[in-house]
Amino acid sequence: MAHARSRKSARPSARRPSARVPKYVYGFANGKADGSSALRSLLGGKGCELAEMTNLGVPVPPGFTITTEAWSAYNASGKKHPPGLWNQVTAGLGRLEAAAGARLGDPARPLLVSVRSGARASMPGMMDTVLNLGLNDQTVEALAKRTRNDRFAWDCYRRFITLFGDVVLSIERRAFDTRLDAAKTRAGVKTDADLPADALRALVTEFKGVVQSQTGRTFPQDPLEQLRLAINAVFDSWWAKKAVDYRRIHRLPDDWGTAVTVMAMVFGNVGPTSGTGVCFSRDPATGERRFFGEFLVNAQGEDVVAGIRTPEPIEALKTRMPAVHKKLTAIKDRLEAHYRDMQDIEFTVQEGRLYILQTRSGKRTGAAAVRIAVEMFAKEKRIDRDTALLRVEPASLHQLLVKTVDQKAKYTAIATGLPATPAAAVGKVVFDPEKAVEMALREEKVILVRPETSPEDVAGMHAAQGVLTSRGGLTSHAAVVARGWGKCCVVGAGDVVVEEENHLFRAGRAVVREGQVVTLNGATGEVIVGAQPLVDPTFSDEFRTLLGWAQDRATTRVRANADTPADASKAREFGAEGIGLVRTEHMFFGEERIPIVRDMIMAGDAQARRKAVDRLLPFQREDFIGIFRAMAPHPVTIRLLDPPLHEFLPKYKEVLEEYTRLDARGFNPERHAELGALKARLEALLEANPMLGHRGCRLGITFPEIYDMQVRAIMEAACQVAGEGLQVEPEIMIPLTGTVAEMKLTREMTDRVARQVIAETGKAVEYSVGTMIEVPRAALVADRIAEHAEFFSFGTNDLTQMTYGYSRDDIGKFLPFYLEKKLLPHDPFAVLDQRGVGELVRIGIDRGRHTVPGLKVGICGEHGGEPSSVEFCHRVGMTYVSCSPYMVPVAWLAAAQGEIKEPRKASGQLLGEAQPKASRPSSARRSRKASRANTKVKLR
Ligand code: ADP
Ligand code: MG
Ligand code: MG
Repeated sequence: MAHARSRKSARPSARRPSARVPKYVYGFANGKADGSSALRSLLGGKGCELAEMTNLGVPVPPGFTITTEAWSAYNASGKKHPPGLWNQVTAGLGRLEAAAGARLGDPARPLLVSVRSGARASMPGMMDTVLNLGLNDQTVEALAKRTRNDRFAWDCYRRFITLFGDVVLSIERRAFDTRLDAAKTRAGVKTDADLPADALRALVTEFKGVVQSQTGRTFPQDPLEQLRLAINAVFDSWWAKKAVDYRRIHRLPDDWGTAVTVMAMVFGNVGPTSGTGVCFSRDPATGERRFFGEFLVNAQGEDVVAGIRTPEPIEALKTRMPAVHKKLTAIKDRLEAHYRDMQDIEFTVQEGRLYILQTRSGKRTGAAAVRIAVEMFAKEKRIDRDTALLRVEPASLHQLLVKTVDQKAKYTAIATGLPATPAAAVGKVVFDPEKAVEMALREEKVILVRPETSPEDVAGMHAAQGVLTSRGGLTSHAAVVARGWGKCCVVGAGDVVVEEENHLFRAGRAVVREGQVVTLNGATGEVIVGAQPLVDPTFSDEFRTLLGWAQDRATTRVRANADTPADASKAREFGAEGIGLVRTEHMFFGEERIPIVRDMIMAGDAQARRKAVDRLLPFQREDFIGIFRAMAPHPVTIRLLDPPLHEFLPKYKEVLEEYTRLDARGFNPERHAELGALKARLEALLEANPMLGHRGCRLGITFPEIYDMQVRAIMEAACQVAGEGLQVEPEIMIPLTGTVAEMKLTREMTDRVARQVIAETGKAVEYSVGTMIEVPRAALVADRIAEHAEFFSFGTNDLTQMTYGYSRDDIGKFLPFYLEKKLLPHDPFAVLDQRGVGELVRIGIDRGRHTVPGLKVGICGEHGGEPSSVEFCHRVGMTYVSCSPYMVPVAWLAAAQGEIKEPRKASGQLLGEAQPKASRPSSARRSRKASRANTKVKLR
């Protein structure tokens, strides 16, 4: 106890001024800051990096950051400031005023501040920021007088009322924007930058009227009250719908909260020698090491990202403001060197003076992430290899595997915008983000078309295959968000005119209506009517390099799920070390095969069944030969027939319909009889719960001819390919085992046929027999099952289904609601439920390896390619994960990251056969048999 207490008091005292009130406010000014990058969770990303940059001597306007701890206290107490917070805020403000040489609300030298949100992880544009706070009817005049610039002062005031009205007073932004547009029309100008002072002054009067009529109160004139309200509003913006949506999509926790940064305003809207911009230290689309960015002259804050005017590229700054360009270049190099990562930097130039307002690790496409990580280690030696591996989000690799428009395709584009991400997409045009979500739920592919996007649209953007906007640059909201996802996105297609109310858009003379199919060529920015052919990606050298490092580092190996020789080759190409799941039933659906399969099912007795089955054998054997050849020398796990038989027959409803029709008319008696038999068989096969019914090994045991044939096909194929001098390693897998007796029996059946084939061919091919662990009971009796199984493969789709009792095919009815209400954190069929289903996996592995130390264990569910699930598989000591061929690189990287974060050797977990290079399969199997003999006495 004494120890615990001393630890407890030791840590907080470092940052707590008194025993009771924590330090809620961290200042930064004049090259000195209380905080630093190390305090990210307390100060948020924005706040901590502003502090860090201040300490580095980068020109940052002075300010202070209110901690996320203050947010927590505020949030927990029903939105009341914790004691001491306001005192610390006013003290912080005092220091800020001293540093800025101006005071909030001062009638002669008024200070203006921004009040900015900032969470631990960057959530671009999801929370709120208020600019130009401190203006009122009096200070606006003082600002005009001091700067001798009426236009500027009134521009700031109208901006302030807009943002304050929107963020703090919850007035719809449109109320202000439509009036701004009207003012532009009245003044006969194109952009807000051209509005004269008088027009802006009149606009402010109008805006104040809006506030009065919408809130029943005058616009708050007391700057301290403005500040308090703005701080609370930014605190509350943590719960804005868009922020909550964003956290859900990115799986960020709700309890982090936001910090609030209050800092002196600098002004990019003073005139032609001022401006604001965003830049990246490398190209965020390709990763190329070149200065990249955009800026807008005579503009403020969000103007660049909101796509209000189309910005100029950063190179233009070189001629417009050479000194600023030079300084900015030096700063971005300095920041990149300091953070050792690509930086995304917000800057503002006020009458030729440069200020940095934010820096963060830049969002990037998967391709850029890979290139930057590889070059920073291999070329520049700025980071080590493990850091390089950790720098790339496994899921982002998926984007490198995106489809692009076929080079050979011939088409004429109706419009061209800026290519924000490299991916191409085909889909039906929709204009309403909510409709996009709805249609996507119905599995329709849609392209969301908007004039520009805003954070409210993220759910719709996420649901769409691609996003097209008519306004905005490469750093616009749409571009940044889509890039993070690697989603196809074309922005600023100026020719595109969206007429949302008419459900169409125009591009030149073309008219495209809602529901019409278009193709977006993400590589070129072209918009094409109709569906263009898309082709698979090719890998860059950097990608191959990174994949190689990941394979080298991972202890959990990666296989693929593949059902055909073509899939198997694809899997090899993507780096799979074997196949973790061949679904044999997929082979049954071929055109020539399905009639035979139906004969097999319709067979009246075992003999008739055997005859049909024998006709299937050559087909199956050919498939296996192809797969073995493609995968040699790696292991191939083949699952014997799993689904219920009715899946191979026509739908009952259709049979019944045709049968009744013929019945009524009385012709074609032959077909009538055939349908009658089919109908009778379907009725016999009818089950209330087919997924819990006559399937898996239950089917194999009751109709042994089927499994016998499959085992024979596997072994004949293996013997033939072995005869060609290739190494084959068949692993025969029994599905849906739930009892030891099932395992024992199917194992014996398999061995009998396999030995027979080996005897016939004279080829001593090594094979093994194992089982899926997908019935919860199998995990619980895994110690006994392991007496008869030589490997386990967790079928987490069925295991999830049976553990939750959720039918996978019907979950759509309640899942959206469950996610919405947070009754489930994710779709458990997409992200492995580590706590529940994962516990069964743990138990299964532990018990299995209790019987057979080093038992080979894998996973072959949908989860095998999902990064957090792969890391889990690594932690529980799986030998390998198996996923779809396209996910193989993702799984390798996740497995490598798992190993870096939690080295397996150090944690003393069993390795299974995790080092493929170390031991040949045959010797491994022998040693396993030996160890089983040793442990037999200990069996429970
Ligand atoms: P977000 O998190 O949405 O990017 P920010 O807090 O970064 O919001 O602010 C929005 C915009 O306002 C940015 O362009 C930022 O650079 C600008 N901005 C914020 N504070 C100031 C300031 N003190 N002076 C000038 N511009 C500012
Ligand atoms: Mg913002
Ligand atoms: Mg920002």
